[in-house]
Amino acid sequence: MNVKNLSQRLSAAREAAEARGDSFYPGPSRIHLASFPPKERWDDWVELDSKAWPKRVEKRYMLVPTTCFNCESACGLLAYVDRDSLEVKKFEGNPEHPGSRGRNCAKGPATINQVTDPDRILYPLKRAGRRGEGKWERISWDEALDTVSSRIREAMQEGRHDEVMYHVGRPGEDGFTERLMAAWGVDGHNSHTNICSSGARAGYQLWCGIDRPSPDHAGAEVMLLVSAHLETGHYFNPHAQRIIEAKHRGAKLIVLDTRLSNTATHADFWLATQPGSEAAVLLSIANYLLQNDLYDRAYVERWWNWHEYLEAVHPGLEPTFENFESMLKAEYESYTFEFAAAESGIDAATLRQVAETVSTAGTRLATHNWRSAAAGNEGGWQVSRTLFLLNALLGAVATPGGLYPNAWNKFVPRPIYLPRHPEYWNELTWPVEFPLAMNELSFLLPHLVKERQGRLDVYFSRVYNPLWTNPDGFSWIEMLTDETKVGLHVALTPTWNESAYFADLVLPMGHSSERHDIHSYETHDGQWIGFRQPVLRAAKERLGEEVTDTRQVNPGEVWEENEFWLDLSWRIDPDGSLGIRPFVESKKNPGTRLTVDEYYGFIFENSVPGLPEKAAAEDLEPLEYMRRYGAYEVASGIGKVYEQEVPAAELEDVAVDPYGRAYTRAAAPPPLNVVPTGAPEGDSDGRRPVGVIVGDKVLKGFPTPSGKLEFYSSTVAAWGWPEYAIPTYIKSHVHPERMAADQKVLISTFRLPVQIHTRSANAKWLDEIAHTNPLWLHTQDAAPLGVETGDLVRVETEIGYFVVKAWVTEGIKPGVVACSHHMGRWKLREGEGQPQLMATARLDRQGADWSLKQTKGVKPYASSDPDTSRIWWTDAGVHQNMTFPVHPDPISGMHCWHQAVRVIRAEAGDRYGDISVDTAKSHQVYKEWLTKTRSAHDVSPDGTRRPMWLIRPVKPVKKAYALPEK
Ligand code: SF4
Repeated sequence: MNVKNLSQRLSAAREAAEARGDSFYPGPSRIHLASFPPKERWDDWVELDSKAWPKRVEKRYMLVPTTCFNCESACGLLAYVDRDSLEVKKFEGNPEHPGSRGRNCAKGPATINQVTDPDRILYPLKRAGRRGEGKWERISWDEALDTVSSRIREAMQEGRHDEVMYHVGRPGEDGFTERLMAAWGVDGHNSHTNICSSGARAGYQLWCGIDRPSPDHAGAEVMLLVSAHLETGHYFNPHAQRIIEAKHRGAKLIVLDTRLSNTATHADFWLATQPGSEAAVLLSIANYLLQNDLYDRAYVERWWNWHEYLEAVHPGLEPTFENFESMLKAEYESYTFEFAAAESGIDAATLRQVAETVSTAGTRLATHNWRSAAAGNEGGWQVSRTLFLLNALLGAVATPGGLYPNAWNKFVPRPIYLPRHPEYWNELTWPVEFPLAMNELSFLLPHLVKERQGRLDVYFSRVYNPLWTNPDGFSWIEMLTDETKVGLHVALTPTWNESAYFADLVLPMGHSSERHDIHSYETHDGQWIGFRQPVLRAAKERLGEEVTDTRQVNPGEVWEENEFWLDLSWRIDPDGSLGIRPFVESKKNPGTRLTVDEYYGFIFENSVPGLPEKAAAEDLEPLEYMRRYGAYEVASGIGKVYEQEVPAAELEDVAVDPYGRAYTRAAAPPPLNVVPTGAPEGDSDGRRPVGVIVGDKVLKGFPTPSGKLEFYSSTVAAWGWPEYAIPTYIKSHVHPERMAADQKVLISTFRLPVQIHTRSANAKWLDEIAHTNPLWLHTQDAAPLGVETGDLVRVETEIGYFVVKAWVTEGIKPGVVACSHHMGRWKLREGEGQPQLMATARLDRQGADWSLKQTKGVKPYASSDPDTSRIWWTDAGVHQNMTFPVHPDPISGMHCWHQAVRVIRAEAGDRYGDISVDTAKSHQVYKEWLTKTRSAHDVSPDGTRRPMWLIRPVKPVKKAYALPEK
């Protein structure tokens, strides 16, 4: 399909819709949303009360935008605020949002369940008994802030900066807290990313210097997905709607997923691959393109760093492109369809058909891998690397219908203050054994603390439930209950969770409609910025009232994090001696604390191109505009940023390396094949890449060491892994060769489309839809066990077992079992936690032997919400993650989630939900995986801990990168 045909089809579809009388919402969503309230009527929107039917009773609403917080997509929501009572009555989509375009998944409207949750935490709480004993007393925010701030101040004054750690689950915002940690001068940012997406990120970053993909599904001819994108994948709703649009126009959908996911049910080709074989399948497609000359030669010659490859791998060859092509074909010729078939279990003829389909995509190949195979397998980072190889072969990079590096499809505004760079390096999050890890080794924390005598004086868990979400949860309990290891655990959370039970302070934070944040994500080829806000604050301000603190409008004393962090920082450094205060001080009123209005007002006024003018056209200030509409489209149709010429003004006094990489300053370029670029901002080195010479021009290129697409990663080679420097296939830790005959692969990473990690246990609409996680078991595997759907089975891992119900199905590959994420929530006492989806459980320990046994299921209960007495389900699922040991990938640092397990019939005495684990064994597995790593002490080419150009959420100063003594 050429471009002309595609656009003809698009306009034909539009004309047909118009002929049917459909109309298109005129705002940035630009889609058929005829029934959406036009923005001109958002102040006073009238609807008939459905509950009053057949009477015609009018309800009057003020519609106030905010942003959903229930996954990373950050879709727009409109809060329907009752004009009489000033209560939020419901949430629907915001048609002014360019990413979600007025649409939401079930979790968006269910925000109202979270806001009205009768069991939510409304006041700051301090533990009143032993840690974990479940006794709490209400305290004031002042007491909480003073307790935390004095402790942090003391740690900093005593040089114990490493003892302050902020551990985030769902960030839900772009950079506010990262900058705050940097402003505190601590290397204390710890994210959940290495149990989530680091595997995929590593593959993308090594290719193009940017760690996330942005596929333009809407314009694609062929979509190739390695994940469950139509239900639970990354940017779920924004991507799902665009995938379906493309399908409606006739685009082909190829899905690699071992389970018959919702996405797979929509696929033209569903490839139920053996877990871990995905890269082999992708390389067989690449090989087909190569051996049949179906790739874009000119693109490869222009944009791949093939010179580097030849010099490093074939130094004797003349560095011509023709020689490179020969070597390239030779590199991949063994990846035949037959080889991939043997690895994946997909027949060679089907693989050929898939490859032929991919070859027809041209530059309209939209591919995406996130979590899934990249998060399941040792070497999973090669899944995204081999997937991107297909785009790089076809030249489908930043093309309509192709794949963009995400940084070009998101917009990050400059904040009011840029933070400093911490002078410290925290070994508990960035251990020296993992110099190439994409993110913090967060899931190893209990082991690192145990093994390296680490200590956390103040540990914040923030919208995160580490002991439940991470593998090896009992080791987390051991750490969190040990006051010599964790001095003060502060849980910042809107709802009760299993980790909060083991906190010292539980501080209530707002949901989507109760807090400020900004975000911008790569939902399509455009750039937008969204604004989350406390909707009642915005509503009251529209009515002329002044609100100075979000607690004035939130339920109970629920706060927002922005104001909390600003206040806490102000108290940590009352006299400015720690250098923190300048980052949280008002510019308008020096000597006073920065307010959220000033913080966001500055950004919208000074850092978002075109927004002040757009606002002025409606006689609004930029902040007022964002409070009114919730989102702003900064640009659309970004195109090939890497082909843009570098302005001449930036090219004075540059140095150029032998591959054409141009650097600022006339300093000598770095030596070849050694990581050359990216000193932290503000560092005295100052040498920065500005572009790359291509032909006779200096183009922007990619933010990689070479400026080109890095088929050959000099970084990976120089840091001890030359065998993995090009896209290749690494056999997984669950490869059949590594498993015993009676073992099966357990896939534990898939989500349920209507649950929100561990924040939806009291979202009643969602719970009613999904409240269990049976083990998917193929009929062929169930028969020899004599197991039928509903029977109890025991799933044995390396460190213990869990007992779960079987679901016998043909929707999964034989030899593989699967159990979904989200389920198995528990509480230790009646009356605590989130009773709508938490079973009551008993926790027992004998030395390193731990067990968790469910004693009561979910049941109806009386509360301020009459629906809680109508709860009909009893099941809450099984907490499988506790039985998994840690599996850190030696390169990406990603936890490799897949487990080699034995599935047997439940034994006498086994009960549903039983969990048993030996934490001594789990520490042993940790040590075994540590032996796979190549420490920076042994491989660093330049005496640093980590390649400086690699992304890091908070980058310390350059001197902190120096390798410590062994
Ligand atoms: S996809 Fe669903 S959960 Fe995620 S932001 Fe959008 S509406 Fe919310």
